[in-house]
Amino acid sequence: MKTLIVERSDRVGGACVTEELFPGFRISTASYSLSLLIPEVVSELGLELDVRVKDPELFAPHPDGGGLTLWRDPARRREAIAAVSKSDAEAYGRWDELWQEAAGRLQPLLAFPATRKQARRAFRRSEVERLFKRTVDGSIAELCEEYFESDLMQGLMASQGIIGSAAGPRTPGTAYIYLHHAFGQAAGETGQWGFVRGGMGAITAQLADIFRAAGGEIRLEAEVASVKAGAKRRTAGVVLRSGEEIDATIVCCNADPKRTLALLDDVRLPPEFVEDVEVIPMQGTVVKVNCALGGLPRFAGMENGGDGPGPQHLGTITVAPSIDYLEDAARAAAEGRPAEEMFCEAWIQSASEPELAPAGKHTLSVFAQYAPYELQEGTWAERREEIGDLVLTALERYAPGLTDLVEGRQVLGPPDLEERFGLTGGNIFHGELLPEWLFEKRPATTWHRHRSPLPGFYMCGSGTHPGGGVCGAPGRNAARAVVADLTADSGISMPPLQGAEG
Ligand SMILES: Cc1cc2nc3c(=O)[nH]c(=O)nc-3n(C[C@H](O)[C@H](O)[C@H](O)COP(=O)(O)OP(=O)(O)OC[C@H]3O[C@@H](n4cnc5c(N)ncnc54)[C@H](O)[C@@H]3O)c2cc1C
Repeated sequence: MKTLIVERSDRVGGACVTEELFPGFRISTASYSLSLLIPEVVSELGLELDVRVKDPELFAPHPDGGGLTLWRDPARRREAIAAVSKSDAEAYGRWDELWQEAAGRLQPLLAFPATRKQARRAFRRSEVERLFKRTVDGSIAELCEEYFESDLMQGLMASQGIIGSAAGPRTPGTAYIYLHHAFGQAAGETGQWGFVRGGMGAITAQLADIFRAAGGEIRLEAEVASVKAGAKRRTAGVVLRSGEEIDATIVCCNADPKRTLALLDDVRLPPEFVEDVEVIPMQGTVVKVNCALGGLPRFAGMENGGDGPGPQHLGTITVAPSIDYLEDAARAAAEGRPAEEMFCEAWIQSASEPELAPAGKHTLSVFAQYAPYELQEGTWAERREEIGDLVLTALERYAPGLTDLVEGRQVLGPPDLEERFGLTGGNIFHGELLPEWLFEKRPATTWHRHRSPLPGFYMCGSGTHPGGGVCGAPGRNAARAVVADLTADSGISMPPLQGAEG
């Protein structure tokens, strides 16, 4: 096949890029941690990534100094949790088993456009009672309260059930968001998260190289304005914003579903398809704050503060002290306000990979929630820096002097993520990851199998099954759909592909 990628921005990689945001500081501007990339994509494309598991996994600073460090080693981890609550230390093992079991059920469903019925069937044989109901349809808060007694463990675990969502942890279905973040194997064992040497852009740069080496062509600053339909109402190609027309019998689109719909403006579509896409919730609530730091932040009560990286600097630094803290933050955004007290996940990649910053200096990426796309008072242009201050203040509370270390910063609220990465509403996953919008609903009923009402036009972005994150599964599934259709149309026999779809 002769293949061409047309990309609106001046770089490849979408929301999976590393950029020199400040002279000498290279930062993963949007996505910053890896776990979800499915093994099939790595092996079939021959990706060679240097992925390092985070150890400790996370550090949760305490307001009175010190904090909880979650090590990989089970004995060390148990000891650390026991200092907060003995009962929670015991519960953690069972918690982990619950998610390992659920993730194991979900993994085979990633590699084909699974329906909810197929998902339920995969869970039915499960030994863990009511597993599907709890880990897909339940609220993450309910599960956390069942397993843990301390506010801190409840908050920390619940935080993984709200990533990228406008929902708070008490919303049904947030358990699935946790599960979605627990199926990955790219950093080692199921559920582990790691970082990629060189930042997330190392992945997409390598994908681009592999694509070019296989004969593909990439054109940057080539925004698609519309998709052309030709004779027999089949895909005929695309029209670029510049007016240039490019003919193609097959078009695969990884823009989010709402942008995709806008590209199909000139095509007569079934009203059900249009209605289904129009109602997908795309309210973004994430603020990403990327900083150049003059040195390492000193966390109150922690040793080797500032002189060299300590465990507090090497994992994800999480501020999620309780379920109510997260719920209050979500409520603020639902009411049109940025949360006064933000949920934050911060990552200092240069502490593990010093080459990313000038000697003695550091990068800091903060992923924060919640701040709404639409503010009730003022505009993002007026309030961007004030909201950036709220994010850094949430961390400064535990690391006094942090803001004095900031030599440069970039604040990306939902409208900035929309503008920069083409994400409608600033939604980081191309639409909510709640169960109502998964399986045969993603992105539209009857059009969840990567095909669209326009023959020859396929959807391959994270608005399709199995959803967002740097996982590669939507792209691989869409490629398989293309190959399957070509094979059926032409009578050519292709070697069988791995995976569960017949
Ligand atoms: C702030 C943030 C933090 C995140 N953190 C993580 C994380 O730590 N780990 C993780 O796994 N995931 C994370 N994610 C999610 C992850 O980055 C996305 O799910 C992933 O990048 C989706 O890939 P995609 O190919 O579906 O779409 P995208 O990465 O959104 O790429 C879509 C591409 O289409 C292009 N495009 C759109 N419209 C047009 C057009 N009309 N013409 C031409 N080109 C067009 C865009 O420019 C873009 O390059 C994060 C996302 C964000 C925004």
